[in-house]
Amino acid sequence: MFQLPRGTRDFTPRDMQKRRYVEDTMRTVFQSFGYQEVQTPTFETLELFTAKSGEGIIDELYSFTDKGGRELALRPELTAPVMRFYVEKLQMEAKPLKLFYFGNCFRYDRPQKGRYREFWQAGCELVGTDTPESYAELISLAYAVLRMTGLKNITVNIGNLTILSSIFTKLNLSKDQQQELIPLIDKAQFDDVKTTLQQFGVAQRDQEKFLDILQTANIKKLSSFVQHDAQARQEIDLLTAIINLLPLFNIKNYHLKMSIVRGLDYYKGMVFEIDAPNLGAEKQLCGGGAYELIPLFGGRETPTAGFAIGFDRTILALETEKYAFPSPTLTAYVIPVNKALLEQSFTIAQQLRSKNIATDIDLLRRGIGKALKYASSINAKTAIIVGPQELKQDAVMVRDMKSGKQELVKCSALPKKFR
Ligand code: AMP
Repeated sequence: MFQLPRGTRDFTPRDMQKRRYVEDTMRTVFQSFGYQEVQTPTFETLELFTAKSGEGIIDELYSFTDKGGRELALRPELTAPVMRFYVEKLQMEAKPLKLFYFGNCFRYDRPQKGRYREFWQAGCELVGTDTPESYAELISLAYAVLRMTGLKNITVNIGNLTILSSIFTKLNLSKDQQQELIPLIDKAQFDDVKTTLQQFGVAQRDQEKFLDILQTANIKKLSSFVQHDAQARQEIDLLTAIINLLPLFNIKNYHLKMSIVRGLDYYKGMVFEIDAPNLGAEKQLCGGGAYELIPLFGGRETPTAGFAIGFDRTILALETEKYAFPSPTLTAYVIPVNKALLEQSFTIAQQLRSKNIATDIDLLRRGIGKALKYASSINAKTAIIVGPQELKQDAVMVRDMKSGKQELVKCSALPKKFR
């Protein structure tokens, strides 16, 4: 027997029904904000991903050499592919350019609940603007996409990497020292952050201030710590403006969080994350912010920002909240009572199908009792029983599968009945 590759999943018809339902909702929300969908290949040149993140990222990728000797990788995310596409073909488009995507990604991660080697992301890129209202709208789009799927319990956290890096500089921390601290900050291991700062020789008072900043939600306090740095002051103003705009988008449940560092190395300035606290360890549903890739890919510099939502975790979060996904519904199940009525039965089924009415028909030549049992097991709303007596009147018996009530309906009136 063959087995699934580690970290991948099969999806049952019920899973797919849930997934497609949520995917459709997400698409509709992106479109309602004026975003247009793009698609890029499942694999790219390996260099696309090492260009910014360095060779170190190869350990986390599915990379391979093809028969022509090209170094390729299955995409671990879609921002770099979409930006490659932008630089190649879309630079001349009117700005701002709003692009969204939905696609599978591959990472050589250690699989666990909410963490897979093949998973799906829904995300977007906003090109050509860096006004506070653009960022506020971007955050609100991520929030709306998640809320419109039916999720109730989500939290928005907003941070800023320029401010964080200004604080690093103020503490005289070298790049290597910062690299050592970042994973600890990311995992909110603040005791370890403190010990490490101590090892780096940072004064006790500064250690405490730094930890305070990482955990503060107070913008005035933040501002007082970066007064020395003009760029960071500018980012404080931006952050303030973004936050002032959020009520306009009905976002109440947000926090300032300077400990957001983001996994990939693209980001700069404003960053944000959305969590589903119910999910435990793998609770991050969405990550995004402003980033810089276009110049690296050889394009003309222009501001870019975006986010990626973990689609699989969104489904998990909905399941955890016991969201009532709509059940699959087959509108009608046609049952010919004998072999001689097969032809008329198929004509009826085809007539309904041509009107986009979900219709199935007994293909096993079963008796009515067994056919009805099957119709009930596949959740058909109604059964259309095609019998010789009724057909003489050009009619069929339509049975409501829930109540068991039956009524005689003229064949010509069937489409209208199910519409
Ligand atoms: P990232 O591209 O790392 O910012 O990830 C964006 C989102 O994708 C995360 O917030 C997660 O929800 C989701 N995600 C990342 N890696 C995985 C994975 N291995 N399995 C499932 N979802 C993931």
